[in-house]
Amino acid sequence: MISNDNLKEIYRSMHLDSAVSDYCLEIEEGLKSRFEEIDRVAEYNQMKVLAAMQKEKVSEGCFYESTGYGYNDEGRDTLERVYASVFHTEDALVRSQITCGTHALTIALSGNLRPGDELLSPVGKPYDTLEGVIGIRPETGSLAEYGVSYRQVELKADGSFDYPAIRAAINEKTKVITIQRSKGYLPRPTFSVSQIGELIAFCKSVKPDVICMVDNCYGEFVETIEPTDVGADMCVGSLIKNPGGGLAPIGGYIVGRADCIERAACRLTAPGLGKELGASLGVNRSFFQGLFLSPTVTASALKSAIFAANIYESLGFKCVPDKDESRHDIIQAVILGSAEGVIAFCKGIQAAAPVDSYVTPEPWAMPGYDCDVIMAAGAFVSGSSIELSADGPVKPPYAVYFQGGLTWPHGKFGIMMSLQKMWEKGLVTL
Ligand SMILES: *Cc1c(COP(=O)(O)O)cnc(C)c1O
Repeated sequence: MISNDNLKEIYRSMHLDSAVSDYCLEIEEGLKSRFEEIDRVAEYNQMKVLAAMQKEKVSEGCFYESTGYGYNDEGRDTLERVYASVFHTEDALVRSQITCGTHALTIALSGNLRPGDELLSPVGKPYDTLEGVIGIRPETGSLAEYGVSYRQVELKADGSFDYPAIRAAINEKTKVITIQRSKGYLPRPTFSVSQIGELIAFCKSVKPDVICMVDNCYGEFVETIEPTDVGADMCVGSLIKNPGGGLAPIGGYIVGRADCIERAACRLTAPGLGKELGASLGVNRSFFQGLFLSPTVTASALKSAIFAANIYESLGFKCVPDKDESRHDIIQAVILGSAEGVIAFCKGIQAAAPVDSYVTPEPWAMPGYDCDVIMAAGAFVSGSSIELSADGPVKPPYAVYFQGGLTWPHGKFGIMMSLQKMWEKGLVTL
C-alpha cells in the first residue's frame, strides 16, 4: 500500500516541504466523511448521465464531424437530447457556436425578450459581464438598446430573498426573471437548488406566465437536482466549466422548455433556421465524453475547495464558504489579508499546474478592473475554470478566488503548493 511517507517523498521531489504536507495531510484525515458524501452525489449524477446516454442510444456514429450548414448532425442532435434528459427538460441547445457562458445567457435572454418587456433580477446584481448585456453598464447592442427595461431587487442583509419587494417589482411588463445560482465574485451566499425552487414558485404565484431563467454556471452536478427540477423554465451554463468535464474545448448550453429553447436557437442562428443548422465540426466526442466525466470532475473540484477552506481557516484566514458550510457551487474565496498573500497563493497554484508550471504569474492592470489582478492558470483549455485556477484582485480585503481541479490529487497538490509559497514567504507558521 502507498503510505503517506511514499506520498511525502514524491511531494518533496516536487518542491513541497514535509512541514507543509504533514500539516495538510492531517487536515485531509478529518475530511473523510465529508468526501464520502461528495462521492455519493457524484455516483448518483454519474448514473443520471449514463442513463441519459443509454436512453438516447449514443453510438459511435455520434462522434462523426459535420461541416458547412451541419444539417442532420446526428451527434449534435443526440447530445442535445442527452442534455435534455439529464436536466429533465423538453429540449436543449448545446453548441460549439456558443462562445462562452455570457454568450449562452445573452442568447437565452435576447431570444425570449421583446421590445417593451422587462427583465427582473430578484437576487441583486448579476455577474459582471451580464451588466453589459442587460445595459446596466452601457454597451453596444445591449438589451436596453432594444427597448428591454430592467429591474433589480436586492437581497436582504442576511442574504435571503426579499419577497415583498419582489412581489412589488413584478408588473405587467415583467417577461423574464433571471436568477444567478452562484455568488460568482460577490459577497453573498450561493443559493441551493431548493432555495431557487422556492423563489421560482413565489414568482410564478405572482405571475404564472413569467419565464424563470437560472444562470447555472459553476453549479452543475454539485447537487443531485438542478434548477430545472424545481421549476426553472431555462437553465444556462458554460462548457468550459462543470458540464464540459475539462474536455470540451469551447461551448455553452441552454436547457428548458421547448418554446424557450426554440426562441433562443432562432437568436443563435437566424429566424427560420433555429436548431436545424450549426455544424459540430469535430467537437461532439469531447462534449459527450466531457459530460460523462463531469460528475466526478465536479466532485474533485468540490473536494479541493473544501480542503482549502479547512486548511486556510485553521490558519486563521476567513473563507467563503466556510469550512463546514454546505456547497452549491465550486468557487472558494480565501481572504488572505495582504497583497503578498494573494501573490504567493497564486504562484503556488501556477507552480502546481500541468501546463505552464514554469511561468510566474504577476499582478497586472487587466482591462475592466479598477486594480491590478493576478491570475494563475495552467490549463489544457484556455480560460477553463473547471481546471484548477485562481485569481485575486490586488486590493483590500485581499481575497483570492479559486476553483476547479480536474482530479482530486491535483487539486490537493495545488492547494498544498499555495501553502508552500505562503510558508516560504513567512506569511504562515505551521
Ligand atoms: C462564468 C460565469 C458566467 C459566464 O462567464 P463566461 O466567462 O462568459 O463564460 C456567468 N455567470 C456566472 C455566475 C459565472 O460564474
